[in-house]
Amino acid sequence: MSVTTFLVIFGSGLIAGMLVILFTSKVGSGERSDLFTAIGTLFSKVIGAFGRMSDRGETPGENKVDQPLPVDSRELRLYESLQVIRNMLLVLAANIQRTDKAASDSSLLLGDVKSSINTMDLPADLSQAHALLMKEIDRVISSNAALKDELAKSQTVLSERQHQIEDLRTAVRIDGLTQIANRAYFDEKLNEIISLRNRYGDLFSLMMIDIDNFKAVNDSYGHQNGDRILKGVALKLKASLRGSDFLARFGGDEFVVILIKTDLAAATEVAWKLCEEVRSSRFHLDDASLSITLSIGVAEARGDDLAESLLKRTDTAMYRTKSGGRNGVSADGAQIR
Ligand code: GH3
Ligand code: MG
Repeated sequence: MSVTTFLVIFGSGLIAGMLVILFTSKVGSGERSDLFTAIGTLFSKVIGAFGRMSDRGETPGENKVDQPLPVDSRELRLYESLQVIRNMLLVLAANIQRTDKAASDSSLLLGDVKSSINTMDLPADLSQAHALLMKEIDRVISSNAALKDELAKSQTVLSERQHQIEDLRTAVRIDGLTQIANRAYFDEKLNEIISLRNRYGDLFSLMMIDIDNFKAVNDSYGHQNGDRILKGVALKLKASLRGSDFLARFGGDEFVVILIKTDLAAATEVAWKLCEEVRSSRFHLDDASLSITLSIGVAEARGDDLAESLLKRTDTAMYRTKSGGRNGVSADGAQIR
């Protein structure tokens, strides 16, 4: 082998070595741990926010009387933060996988270079350079192995964090009082179903349910008993609906149901069934039992409906039931009853 060929191989080996060392030190220390620290801080902020809500005796999704909106928007922000962190973790996981593969590839390559240099017949005056190069290659290979170890540990931590985030994502979607979907989850679901309808034309209907004279229940039996009635009504509605219907607490004493693949006439029938089921039930408190009635509005998605326009038509139908004497159902565009 000529001296020039050797120098080219030697030079390439050194450059490859330097690059891997640089890469290893960046990933192995500063930059990666900075990234983990940033994620850790963000994550503890979210958990902290969650904790502060619990400290105040609130649960995500629980609506304070007369102040439902701030709770909803806080839930929404918390939920959005979790989405951002989850996406960051996914990007990080992909980076770790890429780094792990780069470390393996680089070790393999260096191993090949080492064995081909060892089999060469080198001139005596280059033997010192040869020894140095061998040492450098060994060092790079062993730091690659250490990097792979580190990456394996990071991968474990990462998958634990991802599980925690999935649990939190579920928790912030549930209304604390009634244990059904909360407003944030409903908004997300409605937008998803509207996109599906725009793409595939699947029909669906929306139902808005409001408990009649619920303020009087609170006034007569106390707020805690009012809470028990809200839970009872949510349970009754859930038990009466199909698994494919999406029930959520819209806020205060209002509930919403998304009925997929259901037209206005079928949704109106379901609404009447709910009305009858609740009307014929007795809700038991410690010293009393009472009956409850519902006012329901129903609308089917049509044209280029967005969440806002569909909600408005459903709400208008529900208010028609209220103004028509409560305890009944109104369909969008026509009073039925
Ligand atoms: P309408 O028939 O017109 O719907 O009369 P209403 O009294 O039900 O309506 P209004 O909107 O005036 O009152 C709703 C009440 O629901 C007001 C509030 O005190 C009560 N409320 C809202 N959220 C909660 C809650 O989480 N727990 C309890 N116990 N009450 C709540
Ligand atoms: Mg009401």
